[in-house]
Amino acid sequence: MKLTFVGTSHGVPEKERYCSCTMIESGGARYFIDAGAPLGELVKRCDWDIREIRAVFTTHVHADHTVGIPHFADLINWFYKEAAVDFYITEQPLIDAIKGLILAMEPGSTLKEDRVRFHLTDPTVDWEDENLKLHYIPTKHLPEGHPSYAILVTEKASGSRVLFSGDLSIRLEKSDVPTILAEEELDAFVCEMAHFSAEALKPYLDACRAKNLFFIHVAPAKKFEDIEALKPGYRFEIHTPADGDSVEF
Ligand SMILES: [Zn+2]
Ligand SMILES: [Zn+2]
Repeated sequence: MKLTFVGTSHGVPEKERYCSCTMIESGGARYFIDAGAPLGELVKRCDWDIREIRAVFTTHVHADHTVGIPHFADLINWFYKEAAVDFYITEQPLIDAIKGLILAMEPGSTLKEDRVRFHLTDPTVDWEDENLKLHYIPTKHLPEGHPSYAILVTEKASGSRVLFSGDLSIRLEKSDVPTILAEEELDAFVCEMAHFSAEALKPYLDACRAKNLFFIHVAPAKKFEDIEALKPGYRFEIHTPADGDSVEF
């Protein structure tokens, strides 16, 4: 599978970085993990074939992971008529709000539910198509009653596996780094770095069996130095991708 880091910023945009959004390409289809970047505009800027975009998965409702969806979904509704996209959202009120926003922005219109398909994330069932399988792992980023997830993506053809952390608990106080990181060999771990220090993550890195580590969602900027300082201590590769960087497994 090919990953492109479309947006690597944390809760707010940076001068050169959109908020969280990673594109996965597999079998001629495109998928997104989180949509904090302006997907509706990037489709044109990046020349993505709109017919290839299959699904947008989100890790939790925070705007820096979801705010690209309303505009993109609205464009699919009335403009990108060849597109049919599934949007997986973790809380029903956000689904209702996005649907309401689209209808409010298109007076007299209807939601083309055959092409603009919203789904409430069901973490008890793995999602799959002919290219990918997604497994949701609950985390504890949000207050009680509000779900958040890490997502493990497996490409069927190659067997390659990438774990996305989503956002995790403040200072990792709720110990919600997925245990699979220590249990199984993964091709990559795409990890946020805004809610805890490199020091707090160290015990998990010591046990980490992923071959590559990508830090995104890094804040404050000083943490880029902390990440550099981590590099000599580990056998696996540690990367801090910029927007637009791609990697293939
Ligand atoms: Zn975030
Ligand atoms: Zn968040």
